[in-house]
Amino acid sequence: MFGLSQRGKPQGKSRLGAGLSVVLAAMFALAMAFAAPARAQDTRLPVGVSFSILADIVKSVGGDRVDVTALVGPDQDTHTYEPTPADVAKLSGTRLFFVNGLGFEGWLPRLMKSSHYPGQLVTVTKGLKPRTMVDDGKAVTDPHMFQDPERVKTMVDNIAAALSQADPAGASYYAERAKNYRGALDDLIKWADKQLAAIPPSRRVVLTSHDAFGYLGQRFGIKFLAPEGVSTQSEASAKDVANLIRLIRRTGIRAVFMENISNPRLVERIAHDARVTVDGKLYSDALSKNPEATTYLQLFQYNIRALATAMKDNR
Ligand SMILES: [Zn+2]
Repeated sequence: MFGLSQRGKPQGKSRLGAGLSVVLAAMFALAMAFAAPARAQDTRLPVGVSFSILADIVKSVGGDRVDVTALVGPDQDTHTYEPTPADVAKLSGTRLFFVNGLGFEGWLPRLMKSSHYPGQLVTVTKGLKPRTMVDDGKAVTDPHMFQDPERVKTMVDNIAAALSQADPAGASYYAERAKNYRGALDDLIKWADKQLAAIPPSRRVVLTSHDAFGYLGQRFGIKFLAPEGVSTQSEASAKDVANLIRLIRRTGIRAVFMENISNPRLVERIAHDARVTVDGKLYSDALSKNPEATTYLQLFQYNIRALATAMKDNR
């Protein structure tokens, strides 16, 4: 027995050793299996995007061939955003940087200057005619084109063109995905028209905190009122707020919303003073952290549903 176990001991040890190497080999194989897709990922085109909504649209066109880094995240306000040194570092590894333009990213010139960005800056609204509006007596350009799915179709073409130029091998892949996404946007517009069809023009009035929905209003015949201008950086004047309260009382507007990116206090105060209730929130300049608006298509559907429901109560 003793002899056997003595003989068995080294044997056992070597069996254990063999077992260990089998385990190690299996672990190595497993690691390689995981390493393979990771290597494939490393060949993806690294691109930066200024904010969450545009990041989703770029991902929809770029699919598996792009690695998207977004600077301003869900529920964050791009107007008041301050780029950090970490953002400059994140951007440094990218080959394209997609932005909305039209002054939406007010911090962009500063960032470009301080980062000496080596890649290509792509302004997705290029070629689209912006709407202007009067804000505090001055004519201003409204940057929120992404709230109009029809204009987003052109943005999609601009994105596909920039990706194809940077990654010619993926040109047909990007073209196909862009075509599919444009199709989804067409469906979205038709769907929205249907949702809003029953609401007479006189009831299509909505109050939000800042002027983010001018393009949506233009497309679907909705008048949006806002105490703040096209940027959340502008302060609402006491006079504007008082005028809005009077207007709500006089006209019987009931569709009153706050936004996911801004402080709800101003809208709550207006609603309180005008004796109406706030209908919840609209997703204006960012996707949501919660599951309600994690993609652009979802965001748009959420907003249209909320608007259609609230406008029915207008008088
Ligand atoms: Zn905005």
